[in-house]
Parts: sequence; structure tokens; C-alpha cells
Amino acid sequence: MLTILAIDPATNQQFAETQTTPLAEIPEIIRRARQAQTAWVGQSLGQRASVIRRFQRLLFAHRQEMAELITRENGKPIAESLLVHVAVTLDFARFYLRSARAILRPQPIRMGNPAFLGKRGRLYWEPMGVVAIISPWNYPLLLPFGELIPALLAGNAVVLKPSEFTVRTALLGVELLRQAGLAPDLCQVVVGVGEAGAALIEAAPDKVFFTGSARTGRAVALAAAARFIPVSLELGGSDACVILADADLDRAASGAVWARFSNGGQTCVAAKRVIVERGIYQPFLEHLIRKVAMLRLGPGDRPGTELGPMIRPAQLELLERQLGESVSKGARVAIGGKRRPDLGPNFFEPTVVTEVPLDAPVWREEVFGPVLPIVAAENAEDAIRLANDSTYGLSASVWTGDRRRGEVLARRLEAGAVQVNDAASHVGASEVPHGGEKESGLGRSHGALGMLESCRPRAVVSDRLDWMRKPWWFGYHPASHADRDAFLRFAFGASLWTRIRAIPGALRLLVNRRPV
Ligand code: NAD
Repeated sequence: MLTILAIDPATNQQFAETQTTPLAEIPEIIRRARQAQTAWVGQSLGQRASVIRRFQRLLFAHRQEMAELITRENGKPIAESLLVHVAVTLDFARFYLRSARAILRPQPIRMGNPAFLGKRGRLYWEPMGVVAIISPWNYPLLLPFGELIPALLAGNAVVLKPSEFTVRTALLGVELLRQAGLAPDLCQVVVGVGEAGAALIEAAPDKVFFTGSARTGRAVALAAAARFIPVSLELGGSDACVILADADLDRAASGAVWARFSNGGQTCVAAKRVIVERGIYQPFLEHLIRKVAMLRLGPGDRPGTELGPMIRPAQLELLERQLGESVSKGARVAIGGKRRPDLGPNFFEPTVVTEVPLDAPVWREEVFGPVLPIVAAENAEDAIRLANDSTYGLSASVWTGDRRRGEVLARRLEAGAVQVNDAASHVGASEVPHGGEKESGLGRSHGALGMLESCRPRAVVSDRLDWMRKPWWFGYHPASHADRDAFLRFAFGASLWTRIRAIPGALRLLVNRRPV
């Protein structure tokens, strides 16, 4: 049986190994999940919630152990593992425990067509059944658990395929769910590389939540489409960070630096393209460079580290290719730009790039590492044009002293979420739907919309007035033609008088004649 190695990105040293799941076992995993789900959905929401509540307490109790493991596997600073991963996952549990009942409550459907007067409608949210969650390495706890917690509460079983780089974080999270009393078949983990994710889709779960690159997302969407499996796709981004002339420059620079460089720049919603009004370009750049120079690069487990290593050598090589090609097109490295082998094999300095041609890879492609390109815009209109000139549309930010104006401009940015005077942090707010437009994906996670992604809407319409004739049933007698016309005049006539005069004919149509 093959194994997956757990590697510390700070040293490239292996520290554990996990057996992969044989691909031939995946259909059986889905079958067991399906069987377990039928019992799980029969339990009350309160019973399901008690498992998630116990999981939340266990995660809280094991917070240091979890944070240390995330840092070991992913390399990020321990401060981020604790405050971003563990804290936000605890908050997902809080939000969905509090809101699941309201989100899943059946909604009355009111029917305005007089022909349906006698009917009562309800929209129910039924669980999809078996939900597959395929996740990346950059946020190995927060991302899958932001989908898994609402999916389980809604009555689904889950099969999780974590990234091959961060298997142990997923296994520890799922172990805590089991300790909380979740039946093992309700949340199973498939361990493997991409082919395991592909095999999972082939085994026909009822829904696929995929988070990862746009390239893999396209393959996932095609495979799911061939089986008519609904998908939610959280893909890459190249978020614009628009700094307007009236912004508090020092604060905006702090925000842009954090939003670009947290998690070593390996964040889907990182501020990957900074656009600044020309009038403040120079002073803003000075603030930016001063702050970047202060960042502490080092191993994630060293207290005080602000930037850890990149995840693997291949990601570092891609970053160097994107930066090198951009420089050869005329971009200039204002600070950083080099590897730091003195710290370890995968460290790269936080880098700011100026004079960026708009066709440079650091502007056009998703850059998944600590490189911040900055471009000047003539004015706010030009800034919006530059921001929207991207194949991606995940999120964005606007920085301004005029919050109202910022909110108006925010609505013109082509992105799933836009923040005014902050960036990237909305993903940590459980209530805010997260997801993208264009090549950044389909569907939403988090918030009420995220929970409903793991449910199927089922409309139930029942007849309350048994005596009422259905005007659309057979019995199309020529004599009733005038009554049919009266019904239309009653329902849609332009004036009140037209409608009143049509009442007798409309009533005859609804009650008089017996159906065939
Ligand atoms: P990736 O696409 O390489 O892999 C993601 C997951 O898909 C992994 O578990 C991988 O094993 C699996 N996979 C690979 N090939 C597959 C296939 N053919 N079928 C099914 N599964 C397959 O992405 P990554 O490098 O792990 O993550 C980085 C990317 O994820 C970046 O583009 C980043 O922007 C994006 N991302 C998006 C969000 C978001 O919420 N929108 C969040 C985090 C990361």
C-alpha cells in the first residue's frame, strides 16, 4: 500500500507518513456513508447539534495541539494557526449551532395566481445525502470544516479528501468529531493525491464541494457534469486592493501588507493586485516598503514569526518564474525578490514589485506566494477598470476615507465579496458568504447560503380545497371559452373595473364544471 509523507515545509524533512486509501475502496466508502446518512437524517437537528457542540468543546481543548500540527504541516506562523484556523473553525460551529434551525426552517410558498388559491406550499431543505469535500493545503482546517460542519448539521454524511500536503490536520479534525460521538461512517477521510479526488467524484456522491485551483476546478466540474452531480467550486483569485486618494495611507498599507503576506502569500483571497490612485502612489509605496521591511520571516513555530516558508519547492519555483518573467518585461523589484536559504529550503523574501506591465505574469496570473505588485491608476474610475480586468473574481477591497463612497464603488467590483477599509478577513466571518465570480468559482460557502449548498430544495404543494375545479384539467368545452377569458381578465386585467366585471365568469370556471 502506498503512503503519503508528511513534510515540514520549513525544513523539507519528513515527520510522519499515512497510508493512502486504495482507489478500489472508494465506492464502498460512499456506500457506507449512504447507509449511515439514512440513520443520521432520522435524528433531530438537536441531536445532530449536540455532536457538533461536543466537537467544538474538544477542538477548544485541543487548540494548541491542532495549531502546532497545522504549522508543522503547512508552515504558517503559529499565531495564524491559532487565530485564523482554530478560532474561525470554533466560530463556524458557534454560528451554525445558533442558526441552523432558522436556515433550515421550511419556508411557506405563497401562490398569487387565483387558480392556486386553494393550495398550500412549503419549501423544505433536504440534505443532499453524501457530500464529498475536496480541499487544498493552504487552509487545511478552516476550509473543509467550514463546509463539513453545516453539511453534517443539515443531515448529510461527508467524505473528505484533504490535500496530500496536509492529511494529518484533516485526520486530527475528524478524530475529534469521532470523539464527539459522530459515527465513523458519517465522516470518512480519503487519503491520496489528485487521482483519489477524481475517483471520489467517479463514485458518484450527491454533491461535490471543491476548493483549489481553477485548473483542477475545471476538471472537477467536467467530471461532475458527466454524472449530473451538483458542484460548488471555490477556486483561485487575484484580488484587487484599490487604494483611493482619500484613504488613511498608513492604515491602508498595514492592511494591504497583511492581506498580501499572511500565510506567506498563499491565500486565495490575498490582496494580489494593489491599485493606487496616482496622486498618492509615492507616499503609499513608501509606507508599504517600510512595513514590508519590518516583516519577520522564519519558521512558523518560532514565536513572533510573521511569514513562514512556502509549502513546497515547486511552488517556490513557480513564483520565481512569474517574478523573473515579469522583471524581464520591465517590472522592478522595490524590496525583496530573493530566496532565503539561510532560513531553510522554501523561504522567499516578502517582495514588492513596481512598474508592472499589465501583461506581466505577476499581474495576469494568480501569484501564490509573497510577491505584491503595485500599479498606479489615474482616478477611481480607472482603478475600477483595472480591478475588473481579470479572469478572476473572488474578492476585493476598497480603501477610502469616505465609507459611503467606498460601499458604492464596492458594488461595481466584480467579486463575490468586497470589503471597505479591510481585506481578506471576511473569510473569517462565519456569517459572510464566501465564493467567487468568473474563474473564481461557483456557489458559496459560509453563512446561510453555504449551508444551503449542502441541501436540496424540495417544494411540497398540497390541495386544501377538494371541491375546487382545476380550470386547466380536461373538459375543454367550447361553452366555457368565455369563462376562461373572464378568468384571465379577472387575474390580469389592467383596471379594477375590468377585473370586477370578470368575477362571475372566473368563478364559474373555478367551481361549476366537473372535470373529465
Ligand atoms: P489543487 O487544485 O492543486 O488541489 C486541490 C485539491 O484537489 C487537492 O486535494 C488535490 O489532491 C485535489 N485534486 C487534484 N487533482 C484532482 C482531480 N483531477 N480531481 C479531483 N481532485 C483533484 O489546489 P492547491 O494547490 O491544493 O490549492 C491552491 C489553490 O486553491 C489556489 O489556486 C487557491 O487560490 C485555491 N484556493 C481557493 C480558495 C477559495 O475559497 N476560493 C481557498 C483556498 C485555496
